[in-house]
Amino acid sequence: MKYGRTYNFSAGPAMMPEPVLEEIAAEMMNYRGSGMCVMEMSHRSKVFQQIRDEAEADLRKLMGIPDNYKVLFIQGGGTVQFAMVAMNLMKNGVGCYVETGAWSKKAIAEAKKYGEVKIVASSADKNFSYIPDCSNLDIPDSADYVYICENETINGTTYFQLPETRGKVLVSDQSSMFLSRPCDVSRYGLIWGGVQKNVGPAGMAVVIIREDLLREDLPKFVPTYMSYKTHADNDSLYNTPNCWAIYCCGKVFRYLLENGGLETMHRRNEEKAKILYDFLDQSKLFTGAVRKEDRSLMNVPFVTPSKEQDADVVSASKAAGFDNLKGHKSVGGLRASIYNAMPKEGVEALVEFLKKYEAEHA
Ligand SMILES: *Cc1c(COP(=O)(O)O)cnc(C)c1O
Repeated sequence: MKYGRTYNFSAGPAMMPEPVLEEIAAEMMNYRGSGMCVMEMSHRSKVFQQIRDEAEADLRKLMGIPDNYKVLFIQGGGTVQFAMVAMNLMKNGVGCYVETGAWSKKAIAEAKKYGEVKIVASSADKNFSYIPDCSNLDIPDSADYVYICENETINGTTYFQLPETRGKVLVSDQSSMFLSRPCDVSRYGLIWGGVQKNVGPAGMAVVIIREDLLREDLPKFVPTYMSYKTHADNDSLYNTPNCWAIYCCGKVFRYLLENGGLETMHRRNEEKAKILYDFLDQSKLFTGAVRKEDRSLMNVPFVTPSKEQDADVVSASKAAGFDNLKGHKSVGGLRASIYNAMPKEGVEALVEFLKKYEAEHA
């Protein structure tokens, strides 16, 4: 690793591609002859408008986003989307949710403030260690949408098959898997992702929303900022946006396009995850926490036989030059987040470290 950087396995904010960081550093003091840094630029300036437009165009190309979808850059990170989804999409006042862990629970709790929530499937019975069967969900006619967290960052589960929604709009929180694999946008009504997991700096979400879901007739209590239509009508420039995050995300979109796009990312992510899962599957000390069929390619939680040993591995890993391997405080254990920007060498080095630890503690 250059610059004395560390293999950072954080769940978010997380690693960004090194060439992108280098480009940002090179443009820091004077962005392409503008005489200023992007952080100092008017969001209404021509030069920023171009940054924004290119970011959107590149994302559209990368994901193959159909023309009848809007791309929005909205502040407030992921958590604001829990409320925005419910405020904007609950026309009949009914949202169906699949409960697969901490992030879907937060979405459910927030949606309950604005309407009726029906939990149509859950994996709470087994500590959210799997994705429940969503092929025959009991979805009422009155439902406005079916909501999933497509990759549960804390529990380490992911969907390899989307739910059968019986014609209802599918809404997906893709925060921790955004741009990690190809995505057929047309199957969703709304996709959103907080960008600090797999793309850029924290504090912003990308929202991809089908145009017919933008509403004029929102309840009066919905703040102007919280209406998707406000952002759609103003090219995400209704107020001062997070210009810096848009700029950095745009760099990552371009980088992904120039490096093989989402097919290539997916292949690399599969390869990286396999290295770690293959090790866990044969280890006598470390155990993966998730049912095999539902294992995330991005977040890999695992445990040793005891909490004390988990903590010992975490501190040994720090001494060996790895960072942020501690599991989320709500579940404990260990977790390696291996997003797009984590090089394969990082995963290989981690496995070597874990092997050595196991041998020394057998
Ligand atoms: C991190 C995360 C969020 C919340 O994002 P914030 O930007 O911290 O509000 C929501 N959903 C998922 C799946 C996440 O991983």
